[in-house]
Amino acid sequence: MHEASVVANIVDAVLEELKKYDVTKVNAVTIVVGDLTQLGIEQMEFAYEVLSQGTVLEGSKLLVEPEHIVLGCDKCGYEGPAKMIDFGEDGYGHDIPVLSCPKCGGPVKVLEGEACRVKNMDIETRDD
Ligand SMILES: [Zn+2]
Repeated sequence: MHEASVVANIVDAVLEELKKYDVTKVNAVTIVVGDLTQLGIEQMEFAYEVLSQGTVLEGSKLLVEPEHIVLGCDKCGYEGPAKMIDFGEDGYGHDIPVLSCPKCGGPVKVLEGEACRVKNMDIETRDD
């Protein structure tokens, strides 16, 4: 399960960051996950619940904010969402983004949609 290793990295990073504070309780950790990562949010929440056990994060919530895909084209100046191809014929498929310009077909840069980062931590410290 790909999600588990990603969440393990996030949990490690958050625990490392939390060492800087005198944390008494963690309420929630908010992460931003781009659509291009193809990570399943439910799987991530589940992995977080498992991996946070026995740490200061136990009992806190993982809040996932999606980041939608934004492409930028140098050729025609297009900036916006990708064209999606639906592979879901059997009802279980995913929509796959096309990483070329929907307007002129040229090469594009991915401006948004690849994120997988911690955005915010809702913590309580001893000073509160
Ligand atoms: Zn273009």
